[in-house]
Amino acid sequence: MADRPGGTSVTPPTGHTFAFTRSSDQDDLPHATKRYQYIHQGALIATYADSANRKMADHLRKFETMFTLTPQRMRMIVEAFKDALETGLAKRDQVVPMIPTYVFGWPTGKETGNYLAVDLGGTNLRVCLVTLQGDGKFEITQSKYRLSEEQKQDDGQLLFDFCAECLKAFIDLNIESGVIEKDAVLPLGFTFSYPCSQDKIDHGELIRWTKGFGAPNTEGHDVVAMFRKSLEKLSVPAEVVALTCDTTGTLIASHYVNPKTKIACIFGTGCNAAYMEYVRDIPKLSALNIDPNAEIAINCEWGAFDSFEHEHLPRTKYDLVIDETSNKPGEQAFEKLISGRYLGEILRLIICELIDEGVIFLGQNTYKVEIPYSFDTAFLSLMESDPTDELLMIIGIFTHFFALETTLAERQFFRALAKLVGRRAARLSACGIAAIVSKMGYLEEGCAVGADGSLYNKYPGFADRVHEGLQDIFGEKGRNIVTYHAEDGSGIGSAIVA
Ligand code: ADP
Ligand code: MG
Repeated sequence: MADRPGGTSVTPPTGHTFAFTRSSDQDDLPHATKRYQYIHQGALIATYADSANRKMADHLRKFETMFTLTPQRMRMIVEAFKDALETGLAKRDQVVPMIPTYVFGWPTGKETGNYLAVDLGGTNLRVCLVTLQGDGKFEITQSKYRLSEEQKQDDGQLLFDFCAECLKAFIDLNIESGVIEKDAVLPLGFTFSYPCSQDKIDHGELIRWTKGFGAPNTEGHDVVAMFRKSLEKLSVPAEVVALTCDTTGTLIASHYVNPKTKIACIFGTGCNAAYMEYVRDIPKLSALNIDPNAEIAINCEWGAFDSFEHEHLPRTKYDLVIDETSNKPGEQAFEKLISGRYLGEILRLIICELIDEGVIFLGQNTYKVEIPYSFDTAFLSLMESDPTDELLMIIGIFTHFFALETTLAERQFFRALAKLVGRRAARLSACGIAAIVSKMGYLEEGCAVGADGSLYNKYPGFADRVHEGLQDIFGEKGRNIVTYHAEDGSGIGSAIVA
């Protein structure tokens, strides 16, 4: 609201602007008295706003200390992480399971043909038709379906029925448009991004759900057999030939496109990494008589790092709340500090604490922001990328989604918080990458790291912060490790594996 000449305005923390203006009839005594009363009230509110702003500045310093990772601390995490990777390769059933995927060696780039890929992610289900053209080239057609929270908790077989239904609709559509031949039965790669123990490529027992899934009657079952059952029931013309996870898919796809790639990471609903390991360095496979010089892709499932014992990662009280109220307390400790499912929730918990302490949103109805998981990580991205001085984007988020008015000082504070939470996530991710680099000795020659997932692709500055973290860990040589966006890894990788 623009001030008129001779007027004054005050913005209390509730965000409503009170404006006081002079007009000739206000010079009459009764009005003037009234006006002074208002100004008096306004001054009180202004004093309150000042002290609230000061309080917020104090809070910000506290949060900076809580969420900042020093290079020294990062190096300690890297060492512990390396140990966890080694332990996972040595023995079965370890915290970081280091799952052999039975994908042997790198693709040649000459793979060709039509393949279907079904990617059951943490947030979306994607169905793709991939045409590999050789020479690292491909074409892809895809459809996306949103998964509901109910579906994630409903019986497992129903979840696979849903995947089969979506696939059937997709195939029918592509037969109609002449892309897929009628009566063709296409090979299918199933990208199932939850930890599975595999002993061949088209088999995988779900060890445990992650990323907020809890569908009963699935853990301990072979998910390929379950998916095949659904495909049969609906007579879908597709043959599941390979089970992979998004991370292994991304490893293979990004190497197909860029042969310098040695590691792949996912930063989406969850987080994970994969790389290629020598069989001779995987003691737990020694009984299988595989050529020790062969290479096999390892799905680290590194989101589980530091689970249960919680010895190495710096967890704040907000992280503890997230863990304790999650459907899997104690598990996926690393993932809960990093991935898209949780970052928005961390910020929301801080906001709720400040509401309880009377620091922000006094006198406003805050029930919407008090709903768990109502603050999407995408909001943090939007807040950090707001280009306006007034932080109009942040005004929009709070008014539109939470019916809350914000002051400029609050908006700057929220943006600073988002930055702290986002930066910590990126720097912890750098620790994970550094552990693999250091274990495999990739630092001197350098390597590329293919990365995918909405957090990596859409969060402003996420990649830069990972690179900055790698340099904090390794010094100048950290520049030898470069992450890049691996275009559609899970779909294409799955097709190449198939
Ligand atoms: P999936 O994990 O299902 O493969 P994505 O890679 O798209 O899916 O990741 C989804 C996660 O990314 C969700 O947790 C969501 O909160 C988060 N997300 C979505 N959009 C953005 C964004 N613009 N910035 C940061 N995070 C985002
Ligand atoms: Mg994904």
